[in-house]
Amino acid sequence: MEEIAADPSHPRYASLLMRHRLEAAAKRGMLADSAMIAHGRGEAFDYLLGERTTASARTAAGEAMHRLSRAKRPVLSLNGNVAALAADDMLRLAARLSCPVEINIFYRTPERMTAILGYIEERKKALHLDVLVLGDAPDATIPGLKGPRAACHKEGILDSDVILVPLEDGDRCKALVAMGKTVIVIDLNPLSRSAQQASITVVDELSRALSTMLSWNEEDVRPAYDHQATLNDAHKAMLEGLNNA
Ligand code: ATP
Repeated sequence: MEEIAADPSHPRYASLLMRHRLEAAAKRGMLADSAMIAHGRGEAFDYLLGERTTASARTAAGEAMHRLSRAKRPVLSLNGNVAALAADDMLRLAARLSCPVEINIFYRTPERMTAILGYIEERKKALHLDVLVLGDAPDATIPGLKGPRAACHKEGILDSDVILVPLEDGDRCKALVAMGKTVIVIDLNPLSRSAQQASITVVDELSRALSTMLSWNEEDVRPAYDHQATLNDAHKAMLEGLNNA
């Protein structure tokens, strides 16, 4: 899924690579029709951010790792875009935390679930990782949500205490917070309902955020995490990006 014709020295290589991964995932039937729109919204915010990891995003990523590594039942949730863009790093993170990943998609159809589960199993095998992959047989529902998007596994999302839900929809984020979980969101849009409502928000591009999280060490200095200050800092960084243009 990673072959791409563009030259790695191209200034927009990272962005082209992500688009290519989404195109490939769409061909495999992993994505909802609106997936490219959600990605485009993220790209616009990343442009304003200067396509870089800010100091406050780094602090948020460190706090996220601190909470995940101390959780009793951590779980990592993957939707189609997350699977397409960052399946390998999500699996590496799950292996490091010894926790399950759960495929949990907004527009659930049996075809999309099969396509995503098949891809995740393929990547797990290629990376030789021992990770429990949930999503194929939901046996519980997230209270407060209606329809197929409420479906989840008791062993995974339902009973988790700390959950990483990158690129999450605002309603589901709110429902997970209402269940008393520590909800960690990765979202380039500091104005989104998910970014606002989460317990911890990493305002950074998904693959950059995951690589920061994977390079985190227990001994790293841990500056205090302030949710509102993190969002304000992202607004400020984006405004500065505009003012300096
Ligand atoms: P909400 O429901 O939380 O208000 P939304 O309607 O924008 O937000 P979605 O349509 O589910 O939610 O969009 C997913 C979010 O993911 C968007 O806010 C977008 O900025 C963000 N996003 C998209 N691609 C990436 C990426 N690669 N890295 C980080 N964030 C991304």
